[in-house]
Amino acid sequence: MKIITDPKRMQATSEFLGKQNKTIGFVPTMGALHKGHLKLVKEAKKSCDIVIVSIFVNPTQFGPKEDFKKYPRNIKRDIALLKKEEVDILFYPGVKAMYPDGNKTFIEVKDLGNKLCGASRPGHFNGVTTVVAKLFNIVKPDIAFFGEKDFQQQAIIKKMVKDLNFDVIIKTIPTVREIDGLAKSSRNRYLSKDERIAAVLLSKSLKKAKRLIQKGEKNAKTVKTEIIRTLRNPQLKIDHVSICDPDTFDDKNTIKGPTLIALAVFCGKTRLIDNILIKN
Ligand code: AMP
Repeated sequence: MKIITDPKRMQATSEFLGKQNKTIGFVPTMGALHKGHLKLVKEAKKSCDIVIVSIFVNPTQFGPKEDFKKYPRNIKRDIALLKKEEVDILFYPGVKAMYPDGNKTFIEVKDLGNKLCGASRPGHFNGVTTVVAKLFNIVKPDIAFFGEKDFQQQAIIKKMVKDLNFDVIIKTIPTVREIDGLAKSSRNRYLSKDERIAAVLLSKSLKKAKRLIQKGEKNAKTVKTEIIRTLRNPQLKIDHVSICDPDTFDDKNTIKGPTLIALAVFCGKTRLIDNILIKN
């Protein structure tokens, strides 16, 4: 596996690969890799000639009081995992290399970026779209792979790609979970023993909601009340429970047609997210 830290060199390498008609699959990550990330890599391996993974903890998507500094970083372990998956190139730039002049230019996907997680993390999605746009310009992928766990993120990126005519296909991969249902996340390692036990209630509440809907419940308020009841636990504090349209993220009163149920819950100090898409 080749490790490239310089954006210019990465760009030149991708240009060369493109000229050789190699299809480039790209998996952007913030590292501290787990099986969710590796699933994206495996999918990329299946359909692309060359797989490029980036590891970059992007400062512009973290709020001033968020965990940028203490975000888990374990590059040695990450490199070993990526080598095992036979990844071709790891793009591992530093902050100075990505933002040599600070950051004056931002991409904003209006409306979608202010709802759900965007409501409690102002500016977060502008940081995400901007860094992903930069990474697309540097890595020049044919296909880029994102996780459904960050449902809002992949929807916003798809919109950005469409609106700005990026020449890349976005593929979304289902959420990889622990055996008990907790969505795998780099932030799970922050959890204490008690918090880890409580964290399972996120996926449990979503499963309960799905069952209720499958039994015929159409009232979003009733489903939301059941989710909130399931999440009642001394370790948990709800940030948001949203039952909404998966394209616009507008709240739904009646559950009819495709419906996204998205949660953000503080488990101790750790903000966890999960979601389920009901394909009515
Ligand atoms: P992150 O390193 O958290 O920024 O995530 C990098 C990519 O991995 C994003 O596209 C995430 O949606 C995806 N991802 C994170 N956790 C999971 C998971 N449990 N299952 C599938 N994809 C995931």
